[in-house]
Amino acid sequence: MKVHRISVPTPFYVGPVNVYLIEENPLTLIDVGPRDDNSLEGLRSGLRSLGYKFSDIKRIVISHAHADHYGLARVVVEESAATVLIHEWDAPAVLENHDEFAYRDLLAAAGVPQKTIDRMLAGYEKFKGFAHPLQSVETLKDNDEILFDHESLSVVHTPGHTPGSICLVRTSNRLVFASDTVLKTITPNPVLSPDPINSKRRFQSLGEYLVSLARIRSLAPTVLKGGHGEDVTDFDEHFHRMYRFTKARQSKLLGLLPRQGAVNAWDTSKQLFPDAAGYHRFLALSETVAHLDYAVAEGKLVVERSDGPDVYRRLP
Ligand SMILES: [Zn+2]
Ligand SMILES: [Zn+2]
Repeated sequence: MKVHRISVPTPFYVGPVNVYLIEENPLTLIDVGPRDDNSLEGLRSGLRSLGYKFSDIKRIVISHAHADHYGLARVVVEESAATVLIHEWDAPAVLENHDEFAYRDLLAAAGVPQKTIDRMLAGYEKFKGFAHPLQSVETLKDNDEILFDHESLSVVHTPGHTPGSICLVRTSNRLVFASDTVLKTITPNPVLSPDPINSKRRFQSLGEYLVSLARIRSLAPTVLKGGHGEDVTDFDEHFHRMYRFTKARQSKLLGLLPRQGAVNAWDTSKQLFPDAAGYHRFLALSETVAHLDYAVAEGKLVVERSDGPDVYRRLP
């Protein structure tokens, strides 16, 4: 099994996205890049330099339902008839008939003012332009095997960054394709999402993410190939760094909460990240909600739900 990295440019702040070509039968891509002219050209020329064209691709595995990773899949499918595989929890987000109503409720429960919700959802619509919805996918589950003629990659479900994020593990040398779950220089955002089982609830992104990191650690990975940037080769160190970072942010957040009374996530996010603007305001909110929910799960705060926004308070 030969693995090639193709760095595909994106119009986003995060920079290029890593696409991996698995040169074995059936010829497989892990991720493809966003729907954007430069990205399309980048993917096409990257493949060409390895001696392939879109029509040679037999299979596309999508690591998670973010536009920078799957947006071009439909274009590749139209030229190749490749099969697209994605974890069952992220599949609805890449299909044509996906509805966004659950997000409006999540944002309202976080205390986001109505006007800002409209603006955020309009921004989300624009962002969706970077992904061409797919007509059909095959869904993956934890422990599924993606078979090649001589080898296979195991699917490890690593929820957190999105509910259906996956890692792919090559067991022979414990190489892990980790996408945005493990990035060398960026801390992955736990993005605000509805729970995949019950869309009226929030997905517990940070708690799930920390469990996923522990699971990856139990695989004793040698090399982790991320969705952006260079490989990670010292996962133990990375793991401890992430835990320290999470702990520090938890303390900062808890320090901001008033001794008396209750606060919602939106007001807290403005205190925790005063300078975030545009899409980063949404990411700041996601991060804050994730940390508040995690503090509740750890028994450090209580959450009160009502018809209005959820509010959090310290334990008496
Ligand atoms: Zn992502
Ligand atoms: Zn990404």
